[in-house]
Amino acid sequence: ASASTPAKTEGGEGDKTGEEDHKDDKAAQSLLNKLIRSNLVNTTNQVEVLQRDPNSPLYSVKSFEELRLKPQLLQGVYAMGFNRPSKIQENALPMMLAEPPQNLIAQSQSGTGKTAAFVLAMLSHVDPNNKFPQCLCVSPTYELALQTGKVIEQMGKYYSEVKLVYAIRGNKLQRGTQLQEQVVIGTPGTMLDWCLKFKFIDPKNIKVFVLDEADVMIATQGHQDQSIRIQRMLPKQCQMLLFSATFEETVWNFAQRIVPEPNIIKLKREEETLDTIKQYYVLCNSKEEKFMALCNIYGAITIAQAMIFCHTRKTAGWLAGELSREGHQVALLSGEMQVEQRAAVIDRFREGKEKVLVTTNVCARGIDVEQVSVVINFDLPVDRDGNPDNETYLHRIGRTGRFGKRGLAINMVDSKFSMNVLNKIQDHFNKKIEKLDTEDLDEIE
Ligand code: ADP
Repeated sequence: ASASTPAKTEGGEGDKTGEEDHKDDKAAQSLLNKLIRSNLVNTTNQVEVLQRDPNSPLYSVKSFEELRLKPQLLQGVYAMGFNRPSKIQENALPMMLAEPPQNLIAQSQSGTGKTAAFVLAMLSHVDPNNKFPQCLCVSPTYELALQTGKVIEQMGKYYSEVKLVYAIRGNKLQRGTQLQEQVVIGTPGTMLDWCLKFKFIDPKNIKVFVLDEADVMIATQGHQDQSIRIQRMLPKQCQMLLFSATFEETVWNFAQRIVPEPNIIKLKREEETLDTIKQYYVLCNSKEEKFMALCNIYGAITIAQAMIFCHTRKTAGWLAGELSREGHQVALLSGEMQVEQRAAVIDRFREGKEKVLVTTNVCARGIDVEQVSVVINFDLPVDRDGNPDNETYLHRIGRTGRFGKRGLAINMVDSKFSMNVLNKIQDHFNKKIEKLDTEDLDEIE
């Protein structure tokens, strides 16, 4: 499968509503996760499967061979370095590839193999001899559509008869064009226009309809309506597939409008725990003292890699500057950076090019940097009202299940206020946070 990527055009950046901000945030997080993830998320949880027809046998596969894929596709799968199906793929693939096709709603956290699964399903179902669109895939944003497109191109590398086209803003086609490409990936607005207004696509020929990132999609009301309007134009026997990282009530309601008579697959997120973490706090009187304490800690123990969290961009910038003056190789992740820039910083850090990553809350939310053994809360996490943010605390330093290596967390306290936050966090998790004397650091190693 191949396609030429259209040049990116600049959209007008007007004043944004709260809804748009929220959506941008979710879409950006999702993109960031895709950009930095190079392999599957480990999970110990079991997949939950709800079959539409409880009497039909439940198939699951342990190898890609069992799926009887076209040889060109199997070659593509192996060329991507996949040895066997991920947990969710074990169940989702046989369902999606069954004859007659079955509808599916699937939920699992980012990085569990959803995209690879539906890409394989789309590529398996197209007839390359038919030179017209047969699979539609809608994504919430331009960038996310491009990312999925890349996966289609990679997996279809040895299946060059199958072509892909992007229905995204900036990709302007001549009026009267009849698309020859079998797979169309795009955003709901442009996709709807191509079906309805310009008639580049004949919806009646569509065999597979995929709606990806449903939870990001529903954050924009317009996207929901457009997606439903596209879905209404498709033939009854068209296979409908919907994917989401989370499954709130609103996502579920939307999913049921898009996917009639669905099979349902869910994979619970891995629980995070503080059990394998040693937690300390350090008492200081000011920002400068916190910095001194940090230097002492660095002088006393060997730290492979550390992530340091600050409350504001300003503090993060200041701290990164001070640390590099001390000779540390520091990476800074800051809110004004583009998603691609952020991903590049995280990538370098993961490769070990920098040993310290200084960041603000907002930037680090929802992203996982698994191998970090030391987390330092230069400022304790609080919400907008200044209350302890337990969830963020857990997400920063907690580890998941049996994959979690032992870790070390150090909290910097510099006022009555932050001591109070610390105490509340300690009470909430009912796990002791020990006091650390930075003049005497023998105890911590
Ligand atoms: P999701 O869509 O759930 O976020 P992806 O399909 O993007 O997950 O997969 C996450 C990462 O794991 C990607 O880098 C992808 O190439 C890789 N991956 C997916 N399926 C497999 C597999 N069966 N074996 C190995 N790696 C896989």
